[in-house]
Amino acid sequence: MHRELIEKMKSSKVSFHEADRMPDIDSAILARRTAVSEFTGVELKHITNFSFNTREVTKRNIENMIGAIQVPLGVAGPLHITGEYANGGYYIPLATRGCSVITACGGASARIFKDEMTRAPVFKVKDAKGAKELVDWVNNPVNFKRLKEKAETTTKFGKLLSLTTFVAGRNVFIRFSYDTKDAMGMNMVTIATDVAVDLILSETSAELVALSGNMCSDKKPAAINVITGRGKTVSADVVLDRKTIMDKLKTTPEKMVDVNYRKNLIGSALSGSLGMNAHAANVASAMFIACGQDAAHAVEASNTMTTLELTDEGLHCSVTLPSLAVGTVGGGTTIGTQKECLEMLGVAGAGNPPGANSKKFAEIIAAAVLAGEISLIGALAARHLAKAHSEHGR
Ligand code: NAP
Repeated sequence: MHRELIEKMKSSKVSFHEADRMPDIDSAILARRTAVSEFTGVELKHITNFSFNTREVTKRNIENMIGAIQVPLGVAGPLHITGEYANGGYYIPLATRGCSVITACGGASARIFKDEMTRAPVFKVKDAKGAKELVDWVNNPVNFKRLKEKAETTTKFGKLLSLTTFVAGRNVFIRFSYDTKDAMGMNMVTIATDVAVDLILSETSAELVALSGNMCSDKKPAAINVITGRGKTVSADVVLDRKTIMDKLKTTPEKMVDVNYRKNLIGSALSGSLGMNAHAANVASAMFIACGQDAAHAVEASNTMTTLELTDEGLHCSVTLPSLAVGTVGGGTTIGTQKECLEMLGVAGAGNPPGANSKKFAEIIAAAVLAGEISLIGALAARHLAKAHSEHGR
């Protein structure tokens, strides 16, 4: 054990990065963990245990690694889905009761309407005239083609689809939208946009202020993502029959419609929520964590709109997620436990054709969010919510 290095880290004389100079990764992890343990006086016996490959995760996923945390994993399903990409029964890596209701009613349908990841740099210009010149330059189809060629030099899979400009005084925002195939794509579009920006700077008088100008809008509640979409825009729906609702959820379709109208629509409007749903972020974030996604994208997933309507066929239930940022390659998708969860769903790695796996994954998440909505709305309609929480202690 490198006592001298540990003492220096404990007294902040050197940074935790210094441990990376050690001959092997596992010694560096042990040295950092020992320093933290001794400094805080906490025995880190659980953080010490994990099964993934330290060489891989320190290369791709984590800086200053000291160990791992564990998250209990449950399973729900099979959830029957008839999507364009997801077809069949799926075991969802989390726990929710709505799956059995959907499956008993023939399964959820799911469709994707848009698939674009965005990055929006902000530029400073001299005045309104300068803003108009920049916007005109960007909207010239010849320049779009040149920007597309430039951006796509950095990526084999990413394709620039469109550019949208927004002006506020001397500030011009250019929202770059890409098809990122099976990658969630944030790194991919950041790198591609960075080189495209060089072309803009060389041919206009605009000055780049920041590569991300918050019109993207990444991991912040933002109406632009609800209205124009970000990542996958996906809907899932199912028609529930009265008997299944009464047998399994112990309530009626009318009560569920009433809960959805007064809670998810009126309550959300009154509170100024961007999302009109019961708890979409619960299901989405549980699946994000299980499947190696960026958990902070629960913010965008929370933009979900849930609708419940009585029709001649029964209770039509739907969720629409306008901004679901997910991928099956890159990021945390290759870590052993997370990869196994993606494999359970049949979506690990690159799809054939490229993009098919991430689209299938998005359809499955949408169907699982639908199950979560039906479960919670049903529990509220039956006044089972508080009882369930107190019985299960969660
Ligand atoms: P990434 O791991 O940076 O890139 C995905 C890689 O997969 C690319 O190198 C791509 O190659 C390759 N690839 C292989 N097969 C592919 C296929 N079928 N479809 C698409 N790509 C394929 O992942 P990312 O999704 O761009 O970024 C995810 C990470 O970004 C997460 O860890 C997230 O936390 C983080 N993140 C970054 C930012 C940021 O601003 N940088 C913001 C939020 C989150 P090519 O590039 O050659 O096509």
